[in-house]
Amino acid sequence: MADRFLSFTGTAPGRFLTRRLGLPQPATLRRWSPERPALDGTLLRLVAGKPDPDLAAGLADVLARTGPHPSGAPSGASAAAPSGTRAESAGAPSGQPPAAVVLDATGVRDVDALGDVHAALHPVVRSVAASGRVVVLGAPLDAADHHQAAAQQALKGFTRSLGKEIGRGRTVNLVRLTDASAAESTLRFLLSPKSAYVSGQVIHVGADAATAPEDRDRPLAGRTALVTGAARGIGEAVAETLARDGAHVVVLDVPAAEKDARALAERLGGTALILDITAADAGERIAAALPGGLDVLIHNAGVTRDRRLVNMPAERWSPVMEVNLASVLRTTDALLASGTLRPGGRIVATASIAGLAGNAGQTNYGASKAGVVGLVRSLAPRALEQHGVTVNAVAPGFIETRMTAAIPLFIREAGRRMNSLAQGGLPVDVAETTAWLAHPASGAVNGQVVRVCGQSLLGA
Ligand code: NAD
Repeated sequence: MADRFLSFTGTAPGRFLTRRLGLPQPATLRRWSPERPALDGTLLRLVAGKPDPDLAAGLADVLARTGPHPSGAPSGASAAAPSGTRAESAGAPSGQPPAAVVLDATGVRDVDALGDVHAALHPVVRSVAASGRVVVLGAPLDAADHHQAAAQQALKGFTRSLGKEIGRGRTVNLVRLTDASAAESTLRFLLSPKSAYVSGQVIHVGADAATAPEDRDRPLAGRTALVTGAARGIGEAVAETLARDGAHVVVLDVPAAEKDARALAERLGGTALILDITAADAGERIAAALPGGLDVLIHNAGVTRDRRLVNMPAERWSPVMEVNLASVLRTTDALLASGTLRPGGRIVATASIAGLAGNAGQTNYGASKAGVVGLVRSLAPRALEQHGVTVNAVAPGFIETRMTAAIPLFIREAGRRMNSLAQGGLPVDVAETTAWLAHPASGAVNGQVVRVCGQSLLGA
């Protein structure tokens, strides 16, 4: 269902009218395309507090390889003096708005240093280009230093508040890190058009050694990825994006979707696997179909059977629990136990903001998606230690698919607008986030639940 309001506000009369009436002003988001893979403009690096010199030096290297750059010029970050309690910056060439701002606030340890955050961003935030990025870098909270923990937690409130006010399709995210090179894949994602619908997020990156892929344009080359529920909607976009990144994709869907699943597999040069994921032996059947092993497992299949609890018979409860949660647990266990998921593997499960915030009429769905979050948080450290496999979740907000097209008009319109970007996301937004988590260099991103929701007002 096309977002006609978004198309209307993209016209001059539409902009005039919506401004006069005080209506939401969604901006057309700049998304990735092969012709325009990077944000246009410079990257501005700012510093607040006193960052560790080694971390600052590593960060300078990573940003020099990563960030947006002036069109036609080689990639490179604007240099910033890496120390001092006052914020320091090196600006973009005069007249050119920065496409991205990275504020290194890892060295913010007290309330005074928080003043540097204000001093650094206050003068430049207005100049950030439309669809630009603000990325704040923070440190893990120090359990032994409540002043540091207060200052670092303050960055979360700051990030989320700025995300709500910045507008013009711009996003604001916080990355907590201890090692710049381990965060390279995350910074590449957040500083690119691929993260168009990800805002207000706090992402923790651990200290694992990152392995740069041999081919940056096809980081999943030589790897096999299985996507459940891939015949249409978000799953189809995930399959396409992982295939773009070089993976051999196994398109799994139910017999009723066989035609679409086979057509997609053929288009992507992959394989179709026609299987109901709720079958008790689904994990064993996947393992048997993949004797060469599996590198990326995407639990995307999902269903809704909405009713308020007072009107919900067990027949509407069980299938949601079976598809969205029980089968995810069973197949994950089977594919880890059989060794089908190889070391270096990635599991990405699909939660939902309904599982984080709750939603009237969705006790079954909300419970199943919250269960996915529990699975991810508990399994992630063990799966990494015992199998070398990371486990993360994406939590989509309102995404334009057949699932959301079926929502009654007024509720649908509210769902679309109630986020900082004032629009629904596209399946490709969830797919790009999944591809970042599936990336071979994302081994330090584990146990995270990343919302792809345009910073929805629903939930924390
Ligand atoms: P969709 O209904 O368009 O597609 C779901 C796919 O899963 C279909 O191809 C379907 O055949 C398949 N499927 C269902 N049951 C299956 C089973 N037992 N075995 C194998 N395949 C099965 O849904 P979508 O909107 O693309 O959503 C994809 C995922 O994203 C779901 O987990 C959904 O809960 C989640 N999600 C979607 C939104 C949204 O706004 N669309 C928001 C939050 C979360």
